[in-house]
Amino acid sequence: MQVLSVASECAPLVKTGGLADVVGALPAALAAQGVTMRTLLPGYPAVMKALKDPKVVSTEPALFGGSARLLAATVAGLDLLVIDAPHLFDRPGSIYLGPDGRDWPDNPERFAALSWIAAKIGSNGIDGWRADILHCHDWQAGLVPEYLHGMGGTGKVGTILTIHNIAFHGLADPHKMAALKLSPYRYTADGFEFWGRISALKAGLVGADRLTTVSPTYAAELMTDAFGMGLDGVMRARRGVVSGIINGIDEVVWNPATDPAIAPYKTPKDKLKNRADLRAEFDLPDAPGPLCAVVSRLTEQKGLDLLLEALPTLIGRGGQLVLLGSGDAWLEQAWRAAARDPNIAVRIGYDEGLSHRIIAGADAILVPSRFEPCGLTQLYGLRYGTVPVVALTGGLADTVISASPAALAVGVATGLQFHPVTTDALSGALSHLCDLFAQPETWQTLQTNAMRQPVGWGPSARAYAALYQDTIPKR
Ligand code: ADP
Repeated sequence: MQVLSVASECAPLVKTGGLADVVGALPAALAAQGVTMRTLLPGYPAVMKALKDPKVVSTEPALFGGSARLLAATVAGLDLLVIDAPHLFDRPGSIYLGPDGRDWPDNPERFAALSWIAAKIGSNGIDGWRADILHCHDWQAGLVPEYLHGMGGTGKVGTILTIHNIAFHGLADPHKMAALKLSPYRYTADGFEFWGRISALKAGLVGADRLTTVSPTYAAELMTDAFGMGLDGVMRARRGVVSGIINGIDEVVWNPATDPAIAPYKTPKDKLKNRADLRAEFDLPDAPGPLCAVVSRLTEQKGLDLLLEALPTLIGRGGQLVLLGSGDAWLEQAWRAAARDPNIAVRIGYDEGLSHRIIAGADAILVPSRFEPCGLTQLYGLRYGTVPVVALTGGLADTVISASPAALAVGVATGLQFHPVTTDALSGALSHLCDLFAQPETWQTLQTNAMRQPVGWGPSARAYAALYQDTIPKR
């Protein structure tokens, strides 16, 4: 089985969030299932720099405003196809945002180019290689089925679109129709039109053979108006082809027993050295309560404004907090202000090594998201015996077993969940956390249960492989 994964980011080369982790992990996870996966990526500077002796496999004299080459290379075990199109991708800074902090104005064209090349490979193959499946990720690859249709490629290759976050629609003004090589007659409510604009995501939702998202609960939530972000009707219409497959984590990179960024450990007790190191790193005073952590993008989705309001409960109970994150200016500012409290340490920025030290050193990891397609940091928390406290939504609902009296009694609890996603409910959960932390035996049981929970790719890789098999066109 030959699969082309089509994405705008891929760890370890280029990452802004969980999408990159998943795209980077899938090839190895699927190889174990007999699937050969190549990954098609834009040639951002960080990607181009990582290519050693790439092979030019095709040229494009006119790709959305300039000439381009398609390069093949193996990097970090990934079999990459890279679009070398300097006019679209050779820019410093963020891969999505210009220096003014806003989307690059030509983002529609930039990722249309990604989708266009993917559709071409799906239709005609490349350099003697053919894909059975195009596995498209998020809006950046949403136009693939549309272009495939235009190229007469529909039915030659199966298409799957995975929704990592339905909040990002990939919108463009309709005056870009020709520039994006789209057919105006498909600009309808049944097609890629969304409230008077072109939506690359919607094109994928209506056009792909199969849709997946990254947890079963998020799959169900997407069909509701509270979570569907205006696309719930489309999701309901396509209910029969939607499935939820939970993300795994990279168990080599996130392994407390071998992690080079920390003092390695195998049991909750041996984790304490990391706790001491983290407290020293952030100069935290002695405190009797749990040391909590957040590693997150700072956006409204993540509910960290609610956490700001709930902090008095945590600090009042002797707890402490370390936050690592970056994102919206107002949240960065509010968290910097919160750090005036000596029990609250805040690092604004993006730091992979520090994220490992924090997850290893903290007692609990907090994920109070308003919505969360899957979430990865609670999975890291489970693996590291860092008890997750999470909102009851999306993948957070699917991966944590809350410490209810019943779950504690039968010994299956791994963390805490709260609902609704409000300051009050979060404060209640933090208070409950402090109660549990004050009972060393119960606390250690929670940590041990957490560390035993499988969080790898095994079952999900099997689910993807079965889905690919089911989606291959009968040629
Ligand atoms: P999302 O994709 O919505 O950002 P996820 O939980 O799925 O949320 O994935 C976030 C990923 O990005 C995780 O691997 C997390 O550790 C990482 N991450 C987020 N913010 C930071 C940061 N400031 N520094 C280091 N890693 C971060």
